[in-house]
Amino acid sequence: MRSVWGAKIQIAMPMTVIADIERITALYLAAGTPIKNKSTYHSDHLPVGDWELVDNAWRDDLIRIKYPGDAHACYAMWKGDRFHRWYINLESAYTRTPIGFDFTDHVLDLVVEPDLAGWQWKDEDELTRAVALGLVTQTQADAFYAEGRRAVARLEARRSPFADGWESWRPDPAWPVPPLPCNWDITN
Ligand code: MG
Repeated sequence: MRSVWGAKIQIAMPMTVIADIERITALYLAAGTPIKNKSTYHSDHLPVGDWELVDNAWRDDLIRIKYPGDAHACYAMWKGDRFHRWYINLESAYTRTPIGFDFTDHVLDLVVEPDLAGWQWKDEDELTRAVALGLVTQTQADAFYAEGRRAVARLEARRSPFADGWESWRPDPAWPVPPLPCNWDITN
């Protein structure tokens, strides 16, 4: 799984496929998984300037759920064995590559309480800055908000994936943590 910006990779993560069928793609990312991400991640999340990709370890378990046609993914997230929260990542549809999936992140996100009782936008300021920098247009930004509101409507109606019992999902402890494939940085 890679987050890309044009031809540049922002993050590359080996994930375990839970489901990849017509109606859902669900991928598991284990705490401690070796990943590559931007060296500038802690100073600037936006894809500006140059960055190297550095070795890192993913911190907490998550499942990334995506439905065909959606411009967002829903993450179910854990801290240890405790279900921590839902997270809605606004992003492009997946592009299938020889090594997995690529997507383009849409900067804006939503954070959702674990019991679905509340939610809030995240990184609105970054999206405003991305528009100011010309990374995305105002029209695109408006569409990202509209997609976020569509996800919220689904959540408030308790539609999939929010009422499917993912909170009690746990990985098989026998599963190995996957390494990044050696060709993780191929260009398509
Ligand atoms: Mg995001």
